[in-house]
Amino acid sequence: MTQETDQVLSPIDYEPDLTLFGRVKRRCVSNIAIAPICAPERSIITFGFDDFPKSAADNGADVLESIGAKAIFYACSGLAGRENLTGEQFVDTDMLALVRAGHEIGAHTHTHRDCAHMPTETALEDIARNLDELRQMGLKTPARHFAYPYGETTLALKRALKDRFVTARGIRAGLNRTRADRMHLRAMELTPDTATTKRAIDAIEQAANAPSWLHIFTHDIRNNPSPYGTTRQELKKIAKTARSSGILIATPGEAEKYFGSRLDA
Ligand SMILES: [Zn+2]
Repeated sequence: MTQETDQVLSPIDYEPDLTLFGRVKRRCVSNIAIAPICAPERSIITFGFDDFPKSAADNGADVLESIGAKAIFYACSGLAGRENLTGEQFVDTDMLALVRAGHEIGAHTHTHRDCAHMPTETALEDIARNLDELRQMGLKTPARHFAYPYGETTLALKRALKDRFVTARGIRAGLNRTRADRMHLRAMELTPDTATTKRAIDAIEQAANAPSWLHIFTHDIRNNPSPYGTTRQELKKIAKTARSSGILIATPGEAEKYFGSRLDA
């Protein structure tokens, strides 16, 4: 095990590369679809929680269950049992209870470091270690869907993951329609800024008008959420809008069957 993959980053330690070069590079990596899809036959909304905090497993899952839906939890084994600004993080029993309730466990990396700033081999090692540790925590079915920490990736990593995961999700805002990248799906993030609630609700309206795969994600669900989370009330507002839109709400694993061969356009 390299020393690099032993250092787990909490969100507060991270500083994105906001230089012009960094931003241009990020946009290029995002715009080049290495595994373009066709839009699904019907629109799908997926709710996701990254890392994931205990409050997502408790309050987040509860809100989704109250509308008869399930979510995906992109688990980061290196954060398990720790505490950071998004609150107390999940432990094995949280993950296994979610699985029993019909939710899906997706994969993050083990260290939660920026995958765009490490060699591809190191990122793959980090991803493999996460899958291995989740298995040791009792996860019987290996995760089929992945999310990049901070949404950061490279073309080489996207290519390397193409045959390892069915999808990989980023954090760039948008809906996924024809020509979206299966290895870099777009998503609407929810933060304490209620403009993000409005943006997600607008995206649900857009998804109602044309077949799309809409991912909505956040971290903690608390009364005083971190800058990366939202409240139960805001999540409930979005969940209810999603339910009343008539759009299918599904985890990525369930969504797969509505794509058929369309995931490989
Ligand atoms: Zn994360």
